[in-house]
Amino acid sequence: MADTTTKCLIIGSGPAGYTAAIYASRANLSPILIEGLQPGGQLTTTTEVENFPGYPDGITGPILMEDLRRQALRFGTEIRTGIVTAANFSQRPFKVTTDDGNTITAETVIISTGASAKYLGLPDEQKYAGLGVSACATCDGFFYRGRTVAVVGGGDTACEEALYLSGLAKKVYLVVRKDYLRASKVMQQRVLQKENISVMFNCNTIGLFGEEFVEGAKIIENKGTDKEQILNIAIDGFFLAIGHKPNTDIFTGQIDMDETGYIVTHGKSTATNIPGVFAAGDVADPIYRQAVSAAGMGCRAALDAERFLLENN
Ligand code: NDP
Repeated sequence: MADTTTKCLIIGSGPAGYTAAIYASRANLSPILIEGLQPGGQLTTTTEVENFPGYPDGITGPILMEDLRRQALRFGTEIRTGIVTAANFSQRPFKVTTDDGNTITAETVIISTGASAKYLGLPDEQKYAGLGVSACATCDGFFYRGRTVAVVGGGDTACEEALYLSGLAKKVYLVVRKDYLRASKVMQQRVLQKENISVMFNCNTIGLFGEEFVEGAKIIENKGTDKEQILNIAIDGFFLAIGHKPNTDIFTGQIDMDETGYIVTHGKSTATNIPGVFAAGDVADPIYRQAVSAAGMGCRAALDAERFLLENN
């Protein structure tokens, strides 16, 4: 087992992690960045990103993340593949262990582990995992060319996934539990105007069925009203797009979190309850959750870490 020491350890490789790495490396902190389970983060599963400043014609998520990665490497960030399996923040320098058994001793840590897709919690989601159930249209949509799929959710992610799938699939059902879409107006319009997307308002999925693969979903419409009815829709794929859960499990008990697991930062800084540990991006932001706001927070975390080192070393 090798033990490495660093002034700044960055956990996670989304826009927050890479931006923190760019700033920390330009400040001569020689950061180490651990990429995590999904190198590049959630944006690697997005098609077109139209709202990241500096790209007037849009850019794909994977290319944006590759650009950020190269920018972090350019200034000397050491990027390691793998995941963090344990963290000990009880005393400084902090000790973090990765899945290859190595330990990193860090004077400061920036947590930017992002968030992961949520599931409805139906047993059928597990039964058909990889057999028609997915939480990533851009990863798995290809398998549903010319077929019929359902997307669950009414936010921007659900609309984006439904639109993406509508370009591949024959028909897309968008299953929305309320009587309106929460997504931005522009996304709503695009979805509602798309001929092969059928929006099912006031609908909740209660089960899936099929021999081996998903062949349909059982849906309850207008639950609890006199119009309540059960619908069985024939589908080949079932896509979840109902939001995300912050990836904070390994920090439980050490870092202060809100009731849903998001890391609590102090005031306008990225400081956590542990001096020297900072948090940036979706892991600490249940409100804005944008690539650009995560990047901005990553910048602030690196500046906070730099200032902390100046004041404490
Ligand atoms: P949101 O939290 O915005 O939306 C989640 C959706 O899933 C809501 O419609 C919610 O319903 C529904 N939902 C939640 N739980 C359930 C459940 N158990 N059963 C059925 N439906 C459920 O998450 P998103 O991932 O869509 O977006 C997160 C953030 O990222 C937002 O700020 C969004 O604007 C942003 N985003 C921006 C994009 C862009 O600009 N290109 C692309 C994607 C995301 P309800 O409304 O009833 O709560």
